Amino acid sequence: MQNIRDKISLLCKKSDMEVYMDYMDKDISAHRLPVEKKKEIIEKSIEVATKFYEKLQADFGDLSVVEYARKLSIPINYVEEKGNKYFTYLGLFKEKTQTIVVNFETVLLIKRIGKQFNLDNLVNLNMIKDAVIAHEMFHYFELVNPDIYTNQKIIDAKIFGIIKTKSRLLAAGEIAAMHFSKLLTKLNHTTLVYDKIFAYGRKLVA
Ligand SMILES: [Zn+2]
Repeated sequence: MQNIRDKISLLCKKSDMEVYMDYMDKDISAHRLPVEKKKEIIEKSIEVATKFYEKLQADFGDLSVVEYARKLSIPINYVEEKGNKYFTYLGLFKEKTQTIVVNFETVLLIKRIGKQFNLDNLVNLNMIKDAVIAHEMFHYFELVNPDIYTNQKIIDAKIFGIIKTKSRLLAAGEIAAMHFSKLLTKLNHTTLVYDKIFAYGRKLVA
């Protein structure tokens, strides 16, 4: 079995398309789609993320992630909530109050795991908070722009293989949020590494 360092190192070397394709393959509503369709969805999601990034730059210039949130008047709520084995989170976007929530308990745990396994020369462990805020900021854009592509991406889904239903392809929004976060933080690796460090490492340090 590969150790955590090998897994993270491999993930850091992957291209955006490879990372997002893996993500689609693991998504319950997307994994059955033909490869060409997956590619198209990824390309369009990247396009949407890039459009919002460029708009921020055009409107406000080159700012930090927190400064963009301030310019857009999106409140950021920092909490420290211990997770349990069923549910833990890093960040959330609360639609009702249009607030970004960052869970510092998880941010610090990822940092600790990263240091313990010497991942700091592979991954920027000081950008976790910013990456979370940028990711959730994209979900804010989805809320205030109901007509954007990631909201429109509706697929025919079969529940239990029988009932045909229309469902929103959440993977498109997640890929766009991930990509937007990577652009805004200027990281040279995917922001998905933080989730993976958490997923691989939490059992090891528990
Ligand atoms: Zn998300």
